[in-house]
Amino acid sequence: MNVPPFSLSQQIEDLGSDLEEAVLASLRSGQYIGGAQVKAFEESFASYVGCEHAVGCNSGTDALVLALRALGIGEGDEVITCSFSFFATAEAVSCVGATPVFVDVDPNTCLIDLNLIEAAITERTKALIPVHLFGRPVDMGQVMAIAKQHDLRVIEDCAQATGAMWGEQPVGSIGDVGCFSFFPTKNLGAAGDGGAATTNDPQLAKTMRELAVHGMPKRYLHTALGYNSRLDALQAAVLNVKLPRLQGWIEKRKAIAKRYQELLSDIPGIKIPSEDEGHSWNQFVIQINNESAGQNASRASSNHSAEAKSEHRDWLKTSLAEEGVNTIIYYPIPIHRQPAYADLGLKEGSLPETEELCHNVLSLPIFPELSEIEQQHVISSLRKLYGMQEIITMSENKQNAA
Ligand SMILES: *Cc1c(COP(=O)(O)O)cnc(C)c1O
Repeated sequence: MNVPPFSLSQQIEDLGSDLEEAVLASLRSGQYIGGAQVKAFEESFASYVGCEHAVGCNSGTDALVLALRALGIGEGDEVITCSFSFFATAEAVSCVGATPVFVDVDPNTCLIDLNLIEAAITERTKALIPVHLFGRPVDMGQVMAIAKQHDLRVIEDCAQATGAMWGEQPVGSIGDVGCFSFFPTKNLGAAGDGGAATTNDPQLAKTMRELAVHGMPKRYLHTALGYNSRLDALQAAVLNVKLPRLQGWIEKRKAIAKRYQELLSDIPGIKIPSEDEGHSWNQFVIQINNESAGQNASRASSNHSAEAKSEHRDWLKTSLAEEGVNTIIYYPIPIHRQPAYADLGLKEGSLPETEELCHNVLSLPIFPELSEIEQQHVISSLRKLYGMQEIITMSENKQNAA
């Protein structure tokens, strides 16, 4: 059996003629830029997120750029975020001329360590970008309290967290702006690039909308230097077919996560992500203890050189692949250690928890269409590699529960 880390083929099959007809109708309409599909998607996405406005754009990265620009953040400003994220979080800050300031993460959640934010605030700090990484919601109550006290704007990076909830509130509806990505592997994926910025502030929505179309409030009148960053009508048509199914898909992700949690948590040397009701499980990321683990593991990590820091994790990734279980490392290199940020001069060891995570994380296959047999194969392969007892099968499990 070969289990992919992610696949859309079953989903495309399931959507079948609904999707095909929507795409064909969109093509035949001749309306490729803007139009009814885009408007309909923006309205239903705003309502899904519980926000007044959703501005469609070309990508999650662009949503971040539009949000930063609309909030007036640029040259000389600092924005606090985390280095354990996809590169685009910081890249957007740098691309508007501001400076990303990284604080370390809490290894228990992989999210920004809220206790470290205040120490990083300076006179230049203008905004916070909490990242709801892997689909796990940041504690927005604390974020908003810090922001209020220091008069900072808040941009939620919701790229991986479509459908995640902080308590009763959907992520993306709490800060000044929520930035979403419809990159195909995200919880709501288009058939290409796409993104949206959500807000309850009509002025911010208007500014972001104008910036996304060359800073153009009226045809051929340009009041700012903007971008060409629209959500394609064809992508909106795809998203309009998918959005009504999103909640069902998230429930499936949650069920897979729960099964993994139940059936992997007794393996010594592996840390399973903790329960969180609002988590939308874009990724299921385990942490491998590189010091102590299964028999093969301790052999692998007996070497304490720099290269050995991730040796056990890397052994596990390779061994799982040999069993047909394909995994991904999100992320092997933290943003502050990327060559593009060499200028920041952040040495190895400057964000220890972030750097440690890069050595020990591994993302197991998770997507709504992952079958029970495939899940079972992931679980038994992991257990086998650690010399753990084979667990009861899915069907027996169901019988026991009944
Ligand atoms: C995917 C992602 C982005 C960027 O989204 P794109 O649509 O690929 O531009 C930003 N931040 C995070 C955390 C992401 O995972």
